[in-house]
Amino acid sequence: MSGPLDDKDSRWVNEGAIGVEVRQGRTTDVIGTSVTRVLPTKGRRTIGAWCFVDLIIPPDAHDPDPLEIGPHPHIGLSTVTWLFQGEALHSDSLGTEQVIRPGQLNLMTSGRGIAHAELSTPDGVLGAQMWIALPEATRHGAPAFEHHATLPRLERSWGEATVLIGTYAEAASPARADTDLIGMDLVLAGSARLELRSDFEYGVIPIDRAVKVADDIVEPGWLGLVERGPEELSIEPSSPGARVLLVGGAPLGERIQMWWNFVARSKEEMTEAWRAWQLHDTDRFGPVPSKLARLDAPPPPWLRP
Ligand code: MN
Repeated sequence: MSGPLDDKDSRWVNEGAIGVEVRQGRTTDVIGTSVTRVLPTKGRRTIGAWCFVDLIIPPDAHDPDPLEIGPHPHIGLSTVTWLFQGEALHSDSLGTEQVIRPGQLNLMTSGRGIAHAELSTPDGVLGAQMWIALPEATRHGAPAFEHHATLPRLERSWGEATVLIGTYAEAASPARADTDLIGMDLVLAGSARLELRSDFEYGVIPIDRAVKVADDIVEPGWLGLVERGPEELSIEPSSPGARVLLVGGAPLGERIQMWWNFVARSKEEMTEAWRAWQLHDTDRFGPVPSKLARLDAPPPPWLRP
């Protein structure tokens, strides 16, 4: 029998509802450290200019492995390091040696080429390692490194927010941003209504417990993807104290290619960077002050016989 919609059907006529696409993160291994890869995800490479999100949260978060990632190169991106627990030493080919602790931000911009190493204390770290693709205007530029010992924080009735990069409400991060984007760490005491920019796409990434994003449950290490359009978003923690990363930005509008530690626009560019690293071309990738062993790049799949 068919007929007019009654009240029971009205939930299907939910105009203005926010569609959240929920995607599961996948567990992988980075040099002996178990990570959850949230981005890229199948069929989706970027959220704004964010192109890579790894959560360093092992299955037994009470006993993290030490992080020991020897010197390796990057092109075409900025790396964002954000810790939840522990401390690590960043060293790079600019000569930087910088310890990072929870609440602090390391932002390394590769431009056309940089090399770096990461070494945690033996207790290991919990945190997030993220990449931001550089736009055409700056991706061939000079490498740079920034450490921000403190970042702007907002106190709200629903909890608190730290702005890693970009601007939210009255809080503007001092970190360099080559594109229009946002990165925030939220600790939710209760249900939050966040203001969104309707020209931004967003990713909601729960860290330690599930949260409800609009009408959908997103588990820790998963991604709740919100496309452009909405001007606000509700996030409800499954229990008080839930930690969430929010990344977002204006769509990059450039088609990127990613392989190994490189973000580029073509295989030729990545082959050139790979060769420079293999040949110890110190004009492109200088020496890193680190006692860790240099990482060898695997051969690019498109060059394998
Ligand atoms: Mn790296």
